Amino acid sequence: MSRQAVVKTDSTIEEAERDEALRPRRLCEIIGQKAVVERLKIVLNSCRKNKEPLSHILFDGPPGLGKTTFATVLPNELGTSLQMTSGPALTNPRDMMPFLTNLEEGSILFIDEIHRLPRVVEEFLYPAMEDFRIDIVLGEGIHARTISMPLKRFTLVGATTRSGMLSSPMRDRFKMHEHLEFYSVEELAEIIQVNARKWKSEITEEAALELAKRSRGTPRVAINRHWWARQYAISEADGKITLDVARRALAMYEVDDKGLDKQDRRYLEVLLDVFGGGPTGVDALSATLNLPADTLSDEIEPYLLREQFIVRTPRGREATRRAFEHMGRKITSAKASGQKELFD
Ligand code: ADP
Repeated sequence: MSRQAVVKTDSTIEEAERDEALRPRRLCEIIGQKAVVERLKIVLNSCRKNKEPLSHILFDGPPGLGKTTFATVLPNELGTSLQMTSGPALTNPRDMMPFLTNLEEGSILFIDEIHRLPRVVEEFLYPAMEDFRIDIVLGEGIHARTISMPLKRFTLVGATTRSGMLSSPMRDRFKMHEHLEFYSVEELAEIIQVNARKWKSEITEEAALELAKRSRGTPRVAINRHWWARQYAISEADGKITLDVARRALAMYEVDDKGLDKQDRRYLEVLLDVFGGGPTGVDALSATLNLPADTLSDEIEPYLLREQFIVRTPRGREATRRAFEHMGRKITSAKASGQKELFD
């Protein structure tokens, strides 16, 4: 689902529609995340055999790795219905009522960005998750009374980019907690090939691998790079994405050989040139970049951390030797200069 899209622009709506059309419908269509898929098969099987609703499941990981995809596959596997909402859309327990009263036995309620649920809504959900009932207060003051309303037995699926921000009572109410990892180049190339068939567009194996290599380990990024390469191939070539077409398309999109885009490089530039490589706090970086701190820590930094362009220290973010070298800067930080060569 969209990341922080509170205001939906035309391009985010278009992107959402594109995601929707490409999204795997069944567990067997999901590429990668093997361990998660295997564990889900077990719980799906046991709940079918026991005729019990699926236990509540929390998915966490950076944006675009497949949290919504997993959530939408589950009801298809179980033959139940799905309702979708997100943390920021639920400001008051009242906002939960339409979803809770529409539940069917065994159906799935998906809450994206669940770490952004206000505390009152979270607390309202505890008895719903635990005992399938909600407590409603009627009247006010001394005449107020609480009635308990039973609910259909349902499954709550939560998704978060920040499991650390979830309160521990909330976290504890999820029986399963699945962390999604970045994808390998081969897995992303396979996703690109599958999507090319859905789009009825041609791409060579080398071109799919090249796009995959430069997609930050993330299916949504791979889809975006692939989509752009396809536009480029139609406009500037005969429609087929070859290695050469893919490289030219990526160069025009300003994606470098390590898969970093303009925004990633701007982050590194600020860290290196303004803050001398750090360490520096995320708030200082966010002010200079004029981007929300959440965007930095949820969208930009996870991949830079994984690829060791930056490290997190108790004093803030710090550039590694790899970052200085990749950006063609003289190494100024003592720590980075002490690091051994990180390039292959
Ligand atoms: P998230 O909810 O984590 O932000 P999504 O589930 O919306 O990510 O994934 C973005 C897009 O990437 C989906 O529309 C889907 O087409 C594709 N995708 C994600 N994970 C997979 C996967 N494991 N296999 C195939 N496609 C995937």
